[in-house]
Amino acid sequence: MQTPFRVAVIGAGPSGLYTAAALVSTGTPVAVDVFDRLPAPFGLVRYGVAPDHLRTKSVTRALQRPFMESSGVRFLGHVPVGPAGLSAEVLREHYHAVVWASGSISDRGLGIDGETLEGSHGSGEFVSWYSGHPDHIAVRPDLAHSGAVVVGAGNVALDIARILVRSPGELASTDVPDDVLELLRRSEVSDVHIVVRRGPEHVKFTSPELRQLGALEGVDVIVEDRHVIASVDAGALERRQAQNLAILGSWADSTVPARDPGRRRVHLHFLRTPRRLVGQGGRVVGLVVERTEVRDGRLVGTGEEELIHAGLVVRAIGYRSEPIDGLPHDPIRGIVPNVGGRVVDGDRTLTGCYVTGWLKRGPTGVIGTNKACGEETAGAVLSDLGALPAAVEPDPEAIDRRLAELGIVPVVWTDWQRLDDAEVGLGRTRGGAERVKIAHIDAMLAAARGTEAAVPAE
Ligand code: NAP
Repeated sequence: MQTPFRVAVIGAGPSGLYTAAALVSTGTPVAVDVFDRLPAPFGLVRYGVAPDHLRTKSVTRALQRPFMESSGVRFLGHVPVGPAGLSAEVLREHYHAVVWASGSISDRGLGIDGETLEGSHGSGEFVSWYSGHPDHIAVRPDLAHSGAVVVGAGNVALDIARILVRSPGELASTDVPDDVLELLRRSEVSDVHIVVRRGPEHVKFTSPELRQLGALEGVDVIVEDRHVIASVDAGALERRQAQNLAILGSWADSTVPARDPGRRRVHLHFLRTPRRLVGQGGRVVGLVVERTEVRDGRLVGTGEEELIHAGLVVRAIGYRSEPIDGLPHDPIRGIVPNVGGRVVDGDRTLTGCYVTGWLKRGPTGVIGTNKACGEETAGAVLSDLGALPAAVEPDPEAIDRRLAELGIVPVVWTDWQRLDDAEVGLGRTRGGAERVKIAHIDAMLAAARGTEAAVPAE
């Protein structure tokens, strides 16, 4: 039976998968092909959610449901979408609607001197490295220094700081690839400095994540400049800010522990703006920050500079999306301009073209935020379907032939299940980890297709 409407979703992360689920949930006859350039689904859940946040990662059980329920949703992984692969033109020929869900993958920069030194990383590449993203296995940060800096006051900064100080024993029970675990096991990082440009009342941390930092085994949290916490008017804060302030206050009030070589420390520095990275022989050795203060509600530099010694500087200051061929782009917000998910170019709505997730609203919110976001976009697609131009190619299987002509052999759901089994199997051999990621693309494909040894040396 031919399905009247076909929708392509580009990106098998949470936003794409929530959208796919919503598209097939109403009974409207829709077939959805979810494309991803990687052989594995789940995008940000697999490659962004911290490895020690297992509960958050378990959302994959809900996200995979449409693939398991013969609901007309297919997974087509390892498919490059763009001029060098499946082009916008081919997509237009085969689908009534295309939903772009490819996220915001580029790191924002600080725009200061020294950012390109070795040892300076964006959070995207750093998180991708420890998450076993195939594009970033070569990052291998140098952890042979006692000091590390993480710039930013969002949850990504907390994730990175936590992974750097967590004990290797605890990390072994997560899904980090073996070589990542080995590097973290040998890490000499003992002091991680989180640099926050504004005051404690402005941090973007969520309170459970902040609290988690203080509960880490073998780790002391030290609030530098304790008076900064005391100077905040707690009565004027919203709930999350007040909770954060209470947590920070309890740390600031406790006695600073004596330096114990057997423990690691996270130092929180407020009202410090990064000014330049200092290097030696091409490698970063520290970050110069300027003390700032709030005058008449504005953040101003005091001219007083400090050097924080560090062999690793990670900026966790947000992400932006890159322009997509054939789509308008808002470089300031780093999104594709849209109204409720319908892509717009100035006054014009681009027929059959939609966005969801970070590409639609910017890099904000938790994984669950994508559910309502995906439902909104799916609602727009479904209500437009009757008015969309018929796909040029009426045969739903023609896209498979087209992919073959392009030399593209997609990783389908049953292939992913084989790769999934291989990773779960590796987890069993590493002290009962739920899984151990296979990061190398060839090894992922081999495991998915069952063609050769699942895990060549990486
Ligand atoms: P974020 O929450 O937007 O935080 C970015 C931080 O970078 C802010 O503190 C910002 O400070 C700071 N910043 C920006 N430009 C800066 C500069 N030039 N110099 C110094 N600091 C600068 O972004 P994120 O941490 O990347 O997180 C992205 C989204 O994913 C967020 O919605 C986050 O909650 C979510 N996430 C959630 C979890 C979880 O739930 N466990 C984990 C990871 C990520 P200002 O406020 O002063 O601009």
